[in-house]
Amino acid sequence: MKPTPFDYSAPHSVTEALVLLADEDREPKVVAGGQSLIPMLNMRLARPGLLVDITRIPGLDRISVDAQGALHIGAAVRQARAAADPAVRDGWPLLAAAIGYIGHPQIRARGTVCGSLVHHDPAAELPTAALALDARFVIAGPSGTRTVAAEDFFVATFQTAVEPDELLTEVVLPPRRSGWAFEELARRHGDFATIGVAVLLERTDHAVAAARVVFCGAGSVPVRLPAAEQALTGTDAGPAALDAARSAALDRLAPSDDVHATARYRREAAAHLLVRACTTAWERAR
Ligand SMILES: Cc1cc2nc3c(=O)[nH]c(=O)nc-3n(C[C@H](O)[C@H](O)[C@H](O)COP(=O)(O)OP(=O)(O)OC[C@H]3O[C@@H](n4cnc5c(N)ncnc54)[C@H](O)[C@@H]3O)c2cc1C
Repeated sequence: MKPTPFDYSAPHSVTEALVLLADEDREPKVVAGGQSLIPMLNMRLARPGLLVDITRIPGLDRISVDAQGALHIGAAVRQARAAADPAVRDGWPLLAAAIGYIGHPQIRARGTVCGSLVHHDPAAELPTAALALDARFVIAGPSGTRTVAAEDFFVATFQTAVEPDELLTEVVLPPRRSGWAFEELARRHGDFATIGVAVLLERTDHAVAAARVVFCGAGSVPVRLPAAEQALTGTDAGPAALDAARSAALDRLAPSDDVHATARYRREAAAHLLVRACTTAWERAR
């Protein structure tokens, strides 16, 4: 199928983009990498009258680390570029690893980090990585700029805190030194996750000082599992702690059935991936 007719505009400032997005009559939509939006247009699941291309706005293609050590990724930064960036690989390797699971090189070469976060497919890798890494989202709108924490950003399947007349200008990741792992089960390499997990373990001496466990494919938003985090904290991430974390996943996760997998299969795979990810994260935390 072909999309319904639409106008196209490539503004040169965020202000200009916001003026275009305020034109309710044309039901405008931001386009970044187009890797999710264009297929939706072709299938006529979206019928905007105007596409606002934000990739030519100066400054939005920037990756930088601020004086507090936080990473800033602008709205036009492509996934492949973020994954290859030395600062990202060194300070936020979980993010680079999560990007490696997205589709294929062609998708990652065009798709943006922020586009994936706003699109918010519940089986996507980046929303889960963003919640694990305590991301903050900088959103520009008609009444100014606001910052939203990751736990408030993902609202429901394909829905985030970004309103139709707003623009996510950057995602900010605070500095974090911890062991990490991202594990995923997918039907074929490059498919969206049937189930996946991000684990971060902070270590002092011989114990886990703090743990973060977040799943993708386990609900309509990225699912954090505090029971597993508590089971790991204060332990040496040995067999007893891993077993407790595994039980927490089996008892507490409530994924749904769909054409790809039953809920039971997902839960059991989630528990298995969690043990594997915790073991890797603990080794990397040394
Ligand atoms: C074959 C194929 C396989 C894929 N496999 C995976 C996979 O395994 N895992 C995965 O996570 N993804 C996968 N994707 C999706 C890919 O990661 C997309 O790039 C991503 O979801 C959207 O990013 P984008 O920059 O292309 O956004 P676009 O497609 O341009 O936009 C997506 C949505 O976000 C909105 N939007 C984009 N940027 C902004 C912004 N800054 N502010 C406000 N709104 C914005 C748009 O209006 C649109 O609604 C796949 C895509 C394809 C085509």
